[in-house]
Amino acid sequence: MTRVLVVEDDPQLVRALVINLQARHYGVDAAPDGATGLRLAAARAPDVILLDLGLPDMDGVDAIRSLRRWSTVPILVLSARQASGEKVAALEAGADDYVTKPFSMNELLARLRAAVRRAANDPSLPEPEVIETDEFSINLSAKRVVRQGQDVRLTPTEWHLLEILVSNPGRLVTRKHLLEEVWGFSQTGKTNYLRVYMAQLRRKLEADPSHPRYLITEPGMGYRFEG
Ligand code: CA
Repeated sequence: MTRVLVVEDDPQLVRALVINLQARHYGVDAAPDGATGLRLAAARAPDVILLDLGLPDMDGVDAIRSLRRWSTVPILVLSARQASGEKVAALEAGADDYVTKPFSMNELLARLRAAVRRAANDPSLPEPEVIETDEFSINLSAKRVVRQGQDVRLTPTEWHLLEILVSNPGRLVTRKHLLEEVWGFSQTGKTNYLRVYMAQLRRKLEADPSHPRYLITEPGMGYRFEG
């Protein structure tokens, strides 16, 4: 049984989460504040943690930092819509993903399953070599992209960006991470580089580059590959 720890101070939301998770055969523990959450994380060894960022006794980002000192358990953050800076801080502190309140239960469950699956993957197993979508396929070892039977020519920078995104399917990759990985710096003033290169990638890969299906922008935060 997959064990979920819910750290959330809104009792109605906790009740809804517990009912929905138990109905899908998850084992659930709930903590109404950060201190209880940290204690239960150690005592109950959950497989995944759902963590509200606005806790009564501590900042959720500090709770993530505390957890990450000793645990690699996947952490899915529950965050209010207006707080994009807070979400980035949570991801940089070691959260794996986030859902924005109010969220649909189906979206939450999909993200939860994805986080658990990623954590369960044996890191010694090779990553998939080929990523197939309806529009294009990417062979990671051959560094080859084929779209509708034709090779797509990518610059080394475009390739590097694409490789990072498709290696994290469904997962938000922050602008800071992409800038550091691809250009070796993280000045937020350089996010225009990212916009330019992402626009080029979309022109080469997306059927409708202005309404991307695969290379999704998360405004103010980063990008996500939806396979
Ligand atoms: Ca709260």
